[in-house]
Amino acid sequence: MKELALFDKQCLEDAIKAAKDAYEIGNYPVGAVLAVDGEVIAVGYNELDRGNPERRSYVNHAENLLIIKNGIALSDAYKGGKIISLYSTLEPCIQCLGASVTNHVNRILFIESDPNGGACNLRHDNIGIWYKEVWPEIIQYPLSQEPKKMMIEFFHNEIKKGHTEWPKKMLRLYKAS
Ligand SMILES: [Zn+2]
Repeated sequence: MKELALFDKQCLEDAIKAAKDAYEIGNYPVGAVLAVDGEVIAVGYNELDRGNPERRSYVNHAENLLIIKNGIALSDAYKGGKIISLYSTLEPCIQCLGASVTNHVNRILFIESDPNGGACNLRHDNIGIWYKEVWPEIIQYPLSQEPKKMMIEFFHNEIKKGHTEWPKKMLRLYKAS
């Protein structure tokens, strides 16, 4: 395993803190950090309903929200030839990976594989030619077991709340992974 720079590790730590914040308010515990040229520009977490059930949407993943909320900064960074890094506690899904590609994220670093929605092993050599040119460098770095532990607790809590199918499936997947 390639050793990460101290800054990258700090960003992953900050992503874990954000995941804890999400967990504490009952959200799916995924945290993310966006950095440009070695400087953190934003930190966020999964916000399924963003505090308002009317805004409930499955696009409100931690990574995707960070990208949407910081569109101008990202576009300026890209135009300025700066390096954009996205850190997440969990392997990005196809949507967040897609948003990263569209917004010229250069590097994606994550801690925990997602056996359910993870898309980082997607082959990009058999889709449109653009993806060969802009695909980010993707690094998994298992800095900590905390993100996985939080997710397992989250699924148990969901089962206690009476939701069963999805969290039980997720527990089975994480047990097997
Ligand atoms: Zn996602």
